[in-house]
Amino acid sequence: MTPVAPLPLNDGRTIPQLGYGVFKVDAAKAADVTGQALTAGYRHVDTAKIYGNEEGVGEAVRASGLPREQVYVTTKLWNDAHAHDDAVAALEGSLERLGLEYVDLYLVHWAVPSQGQYLEAWKTLIELRDRGLATSIGVSNYPAEQLREIIEATGEAPAVHQIELHPYFQQRALRELHSEHGIVTEAWGPLGQGKSDLLENDAITSIATARGVSPAQVVLAWHIAHGIVALPKSVTPSRIVENLEAAEIELTAEEVAAIDALDRPDGRGGADPATFGQS
Ligand code: NAD
Repeated sequence: MTPVAPLPLNDGRTIPQLGYGVFKVDAAKAADVTGQALTAGYRHVDTAKIYGNEEGVGEAVRASGLPREQVYVTTKLWNDAHAHDDAVAALEGSLERLGLEYVDLYLVHWAVPSQGQYLEAWKTLIELRDRGLATSIGVSNYPAEQLREIIEATGEAPAVHQIELHPYFQQRALRELHSEHGIVTEAWGPLGQGKSDLLENDAITSIATARGVSPAQVVLAWHIAHGIVALPKSVTPSRIVENLEAAEIELTAEEVAAIDALDRPDGRGGADPATFGQS
């Protein structure tokens, strides 16, 4: 089994650096593919209320035979009407669907600055952690301004910030802000979500060919080299295994630098957190 090295969090806990993402995984398939991932050796699964597959993820975790404390489960607070207002009910609903007593990490899914509830949501997550329903708490898709604001207002920095991040969109400014507060960066879309030619880029394919590994593995190894938590998604059995095995690849400083050079100002593939959800 591939070891999945844990990273320390600013709340004294740890998080496995490679997780299995289940965005766009059909509810009907979620238990099967999450079960495959756990069998392959993943010990970290990233879901969300909006993915509609919490039931299947929970079923796989419970059926895995693994002690609960050995599987790291993340879910997220969606931002539909009043959900930010009522994060307690939202997390209770997620736990019910997961069939679990607690999650390891609960994230506010998007700040949606125009809704103006991102601070309230964060304050409620602090309460939920203090009640033990979430071991660690964090946010996702918070622009720097809103991230600074919630830290200043509560004196509590999120343990994790989950953001779009891949070699074409490296988020250097946010990562620096994270370092100042001991926040672990999690990459969503770590492989670029298939929205660009990332996995055919020469800098990446040449490293892959030289090492006899796949381009996806090179990209995941780059995240790991930077201390970023990566959450690759696949429902293809061979890729589920391949992605986890990337944890064994240690890139050289030159290889990391060659991929660092791929950052692009227009590399964002998904929605902009500053404007997402604006009506
Ligand atoms: P990703 O970058 O993981 O890309 C997934 C796609 O890459 C797959 O559908 C497949 O087509 C391809 N792929 C996977 N493994 C491959 C391999 N070995 N070789 C070649 N191609 C491969 O994108 P994602 O699923 O959008 O992001 C990963 C996870 O991040 C999600 O599943 C979810 O858990 C999380 N996420 C969070 C947010 C958020 O707003 N917080 C948004 C998107 C995703």
